[in-house]
Amino acid sequence: MKFNCLVVGAGISGATCARILAETGRKVLVIEKQKNSAGNCHDYLSKEGITVHTHGPHIFHTNNKQVWDFLNRFTEFRFFQHRVLSFADGLLIPFPINTDTINMVFNTSITTEDVFSFLEKEVKKASFANPPLNFRDAVVSQVGERLYNLFFKNYTIKQWGRQPEELSAEIAKRIPVRTNRDGRYFSDQYQGIPSEGYTKMVDNMLNHENISILFGADYFKLGNLASAFLDEEKGLTIYTGELDKFFDYKYGELEYRSLHIEFKTIEQEWYQNAAVVNYPNDYDFTRITEFKHMTGERSDKTVICMEYPRDKGIPYYVVITESNTKKRELYMADVKALEKNGKFIFTGRLAEYKYYNMDQAILAAIEKTEKYLKSC
Ligand code: UDP
Repeated sequence: MKFNCLVVGAGISGATCARILAETGRKVLVIEKQKNSAGNCHDYLSKEGITVHTHGPHIFHTNNKQVWDFLNRFTEFRFFQHRVLSFADGLLIPFPINTDTINMVFNTSITTEDVFSFLEKEVKKASFANPPLNFRDAVVSQVGERLYNLFFKNYTIKQWGRQPEELSAEIAKRIPVRTNRDGRYFSDQYQGIPSEGYTKMVDNMLNHENISILFGADYFKLGNLASAFLDEEKGLTIYTGELDKFFDYKYGELEYRSLHIEFKTIEQEWYQNAAVVNYPNDYDFTRITEFKHMTGERSDKTVICMEYPRDKGIPYYVVITESNTKKRELYMADVKALEKNGKFIFTGRLAEYKYYNMDQAILAAIEKTEKYLKSC
C-alpha cells in the first residue's frame, strides 16, 4: 500500500500534522523509532497510580484559542495553575519574581505599587549591555544583580553547562518578572494537564482510520525503504527529528542539551509544597518535580524526579548560542528549499531547532500543514 504522507516522529508535532492530513482523506504513515507515541511528552501510570512524565515535567499552557480548541478534541484538561518555588538563601521563595519574592529576599514589605521603582533602583546599581547582548544582560536589565545572582546565574550555568553570557537573551523571555503578586509560573489564558495524560492525548490524535503507525522504525535506518511507502508523484514527508541529522551534519553538529532524570518513589503522602521546586544554587540537579500536584491523583506514596542536565543523551533542549544560531541558519536555508518543492515539511523543536513550548510546536505544525494544503 502506498501512503500520501510519511510522518517521521509520533510526538506532538508529528501527531498534529498526521491528524490534520488524515482528516483531509490522505493516507498517512507515521514512523517512530521508539516503541511508544508522544515523544518527549510521554507519560505513564506508575504502579502507585501516579501519572509520571517520562521526560520531566510538562505543563500545558497557551494563549492561543486555536491550539486549545484543537487539543480539546482529543482530551479533557484538568485545571492546574503551575506554581514554582525556588530554594534560595535557605528559603522556599515564589518564582518567577513577583512582589512576594522581593519581600522575602530583601526582607521588606513593599506593596505592588512600589515594585517597579524598587527594581529600577536595583537595575541602576548594575552593569549590563543595553540592549541586552545575552541572557545575563537580559535578566540583569530587568531585576538587577542581586536577584540575578540568587535565582538565575547558577541555575543557568547548571542547566546549560555554559556561562549565561554565551546564551541568547531570548531565553530570558521565557521567565516573566511581575510587579504584582501573581505567583503562577504561567499567566496564559488556558492551562492544564490532560486528564488521562499526554500519551493518551497523542494516541487519540493518532487514532484515525487514515493513520497507520510503525513503532521501532528508524527513518535513517529505513533509508530508501521509507520513501518506498510514499506515493512517488505527490508524496509528502513531515520530518520532526533533529535538524542536523537529516542533512548528515553537513554544516557541523548542532548542540542539544539532555537530562538524566532520576525518579524516586517516596513512602509518604507528600514530598514538597509545589509541583516544582527549583534549586539554583544547591545540588547538581536543577529542580525536583512532584507529579501528584499536577495530576490530582491520590496515593499514600508520592513520585518525584530530579533533573540532572547532561551534554549527551536524548535531545531535549536546543542550545541558543551564537554559533548554533549561525549553523541553524545554514540548515534552515536548505529546509526552505526542500519545503518549496512541496514534498517536505520540517516542524517541531528538533526539526526547526527552536525552543518551542508544546503549544508553539502544535501551532507551527497546524500552520505549516495548512499552508501545504492550501498549496495543493
Ligand atoms: N531559569 C533560571 N532560574 C530558574 C528557572 C529558570 O535561571 O529558577 C532560566 C534557565 O536558564 C532556564 C530558563 O530560565 O533554562 C528557562 O526556564 P524554563 O523554566 O522555561 O525551562 P524549561 O522548563 O524549559 O526547562
